[in-house]
Amino acid sequence: MTASRPVVWTATQLAQAVVLGQLELHYQPIVDLRSDQIAGAEALLRWRHPSLGLLPPGQFLPVAESSGLMPEIGAWVLREACQQMHEWLPVQWRPFRLAVNVSARQVGPGFDDQVQQALAAAGLLAEYLEIELTESAAFGDPAIFPLLDALRAIGVRFAADDFGTGYSCLQHLKCCPITTLKIDQSFVAGIVDDTRDQTIVRAVIQLAHGLGMEVVAEGVETPASLTQLRLADCDAVQGFLFAKPMPAAAFAAFVKRWRGVTMNVNEPTTSCC
Ligand code: C2E
Ligand code: MG
Ligand code: MG
Ligand code: MG
Repeated sequence: MTASRPVVWTATQLAQAVVLGQLELHYQPIVDLRSDQIAGAEALLRWRHPSLGLLPPGQFLPVAESSGLMPEIGAWVLREACQQMHEWLPVQWRPFRLAVNVSARQVGPGFDDQVQQALAAAGLLAEYLEIELTESAAFGDPAIFPLLDALRAIGVRFAADDFGTGYSCLQHLKCCPITTLKIDQSFVAGIVDDTRDQTIVRAVIQLAHGLGMEVVAEGVETPASLTQLRLADCDAVQGFLFAKPMPAAAFAAFVKRWRGVTMNVNEPTTSCC
């Protein structure tokens, strides 16, 4: 259950939660629009608070960022996600990708080693990992480009998260090894009723395809917006229409159900949750 009462956490409380193992990753499916298969998942951090229940990242990540805990939490997220992906390998199909959010504060000297260690510890091939960075925060710093290039060279993919919001610089699309653009949900929300959102989404998809990138639309909540995204040639989608982020075991069960459904019918499946 999600706590409705926002609390301002101290760094000490959050550090304790880390030590006590109260952080966990939930997984939201990413659906490929050509195959209608689940092509991947995004790992999203949650704090299972003993008395308040499940807390979303918006309630505690700002404290992590400002208190210096982000690198430690971020390193745990990477290790945990890689291990989980490795556990799923026998039941998944290729291509499957696990997207992991990484804070700009985590990306500095040694970040490439940290990622490689997480992959090696889990015995996971780099091609399964997609690192999501918000463009303004991370792709804006040319000092990190060599780190990103080194990881891309071994197969790690990079997604520009929340594309189109904040400080969007087209230069990043040229200079950074971005493989995926994630269109922010604020544009997706208006795609049915607002012709400006529709025009922006279509233009972003064309731009990305022209640059050899894939496009994932975030925050897809209605069949009508899904139809618009298909018409706009969007590659993949993610949103409450399909599923909310869920614990690892529930995600595995969801994938199994989905496969059963899509193997039995030829029509695209959009409402199996
Ligand atoms: P994000 O990376 O853009 O993740 C997508 C957010 O949209 C998630 O919120 C997800 O639950 C939500 N979402 C997905 N589909 C829908 C939909 O159809 N409708 C609506 N209204 N929302 C949808 P969440 O889990 O609360 O995460 C918020 C943000 O926190 C993430 O945005 C990401 O920036 C950050 N975050 C989450 N986990 C991590 C992490 O492990 N590390 C770091 N550095 N940041 C994280
Ligand atoms: Mg993300
Ligand atoms: Mg996003
Ligand atoms: Mg976001």
